[in-house]
Formats: sequence, C-alpha cells, structure tokens
Amino acid sequence: MLEYDGSSVTPGGSSSLTTSDTAFATPDFASANGVYCKYCGATPAVKLDFRAHRGLILFMQMRNLPGPYCRNCGIAVFRHMTADSLVQGWWGPISFVVVNPLTILSNVVNRGRIGRLAPPIPGGPSQPMDEGKPLVQRWQFFGFFIPLIAIGSVIASAAGSQSSSGSGYSSYPTYPRTTYTAPYAVIPSVPAVPKTTARTDPGFAVAGDCIHNTHGPLATDDDPVLVIVPCTDPQAEAEVIARPTGPLADNQCDTDYPEADMVFTHTTRYGSGPEIQTYALCVRMK
Ligand SMILES: [Zn+2]
Repeated sequence: MLEYDGSSVTPGGSSSLTTSDTAFATPDFASANGVYCKYCGATPAVKLDFRAHRGLILFMQMRNLPGPYCRNCGIAVFRHMTADSLVQGWWGPISFVVVNPLTILSNVVNRGRIGRLAPPIPGGPSQPMDEGKPLVQRWQFFGFFIPLIAIGSVIASAAGSQSSSGSGYSSYPTYPRTTYTAPYAVIPSVPAVPKTTARTDPGFAVAGDCIHNTHGPLATDDDPVLVIVPCTDPQAEAEVIARPTGPLADNQCDTDYPEADMVFTHTTRYGSGPEIQTYALCVRMK
C-alpha cells in the first residue's frame, strides 16, 4: 500500500514518493473536456465503442462496450476486446472475410483516438482501469496470424496444383483449363426445417421477448442454442430489442438499436452455397 504523506514532499526538493505514473505528479487540468469516463468517472474522456466479435458456424456474436472512455479505461478495454476478437473472431466465412476485420479495424481506429487523450486527471470517483499488457505481448496476438496462415495455405495449394498441371509440356502453349459445371443440374435442397413450437424458436422472436441459451452462459458460450423463454423466467438472460432480417440485419442492430449490447446473427446455407444472413437478434443483457 502506497501511502501519500503530503508533509514529506518538500517544495523543489526530492520526494520520497516514487510512482511510475507521472500523471499524478503533474495533472494537466486544462485537458478536462467535460466528457467523463463511463467506467471510472475520470476526465478527459472520449465517446466511442470498442467491440469484440466471435465467429460461429450458425450464430455470430458481437459484443459492444460503449464509452465514453478515459485514456486508461479505453486502452484496457481495447486490449481486452481486440485480444478476444483475434482468437474468437475468425470462425465462420462471413466473420473471416468481413465482420472480424472490420471489428478489429474499428477498434484500432478508436485506439488512435484514445491515444490522443491526456491521462485522466486524478481525483475521479474511482480508479481508472489497469491497462494491462500491450496487445502484442498477449498470447492472443498469435490470432493475428490465423488469417495470414489460412490465406497463405490457400495460395500455396493453388500454386502447387498449377505447377503440376503444366509439367512435361513446357514447350507447348498452355491453355487455360476449363472447368465444366453441370448447368443447374444440382438443385440445392432446402434442409428440412425442424418442427418447433413457434414461440420457442428465436427465429420468431419479437421485441420484448426474452431468450435463454440452453448450451451455456450467454456471454461466454461459443456455440449458443437460443430459445425464447418468458421474461419472468429466472433463466431469461437477455431481452430482445429487435429482430431485423436480411443480409445486413446485424448492421441494423448497430445503427438503429444502439441500446443493444449484443447481437446474434443467424445464418443459413442452401446446398453448398455461401452462408446467408437470415436475421439478427439485437439483445440487451438482463
Ligand atoms: Zn476511465
């Protein structure tokens, strides 16, 4: 416990108080900007959101921690949320190509804005968060290489198949290989929709419904299986704010329902086609 005894600090002389945080030595009161950190109450702060994305085969999950953030809390949350995304964000085609890169990019841009804030002025209602280790020193940072490895292995296998097809005929002109596809011979079969009671299937959720994850805790589960439950049910974990549909449903949660703090995206796939977003649940944790 570091005890501060004001009388032991002699003006102009050396102080016995040692602290690595120089902000406490010379607080810059002019930096107060009238915005206060949502987490510790300190100023200056800036209003922005940090996000974490989790890619899943059927459901995608977006966590959103809105600000305002002071510098310390912002750096702490940036590191935590981005570390999670680097590991959990790649597992699903849409997540891999679109959602996770944008999530990480948005966090990095916001990290730049946080970095331009002056340190929080001491004397706030509570202590700012511990920033923790820099992202590059966390084990999750290896997740940054997951897409590079995946893309690299695709290129390597493509290069390998090309070089073998031309071997032995190097003096002949090579013609582009034509791939014949059966013209619409294969009609994708729509998977049989399991008969469920309409009011437990989250696909029929309406605003005000509550959901429960039968597979594990909603906030941390990698493979949620959602059902509608009465909001009075102690199992109810989150309240549905809206259920937009269509390929951009998750964006609608972000833009139209900022009070949602989690987004579940339901995707479906017909035959061997790409996964298509069918609907999203914008929910607020209870
Ligand atoms: Zn703070």
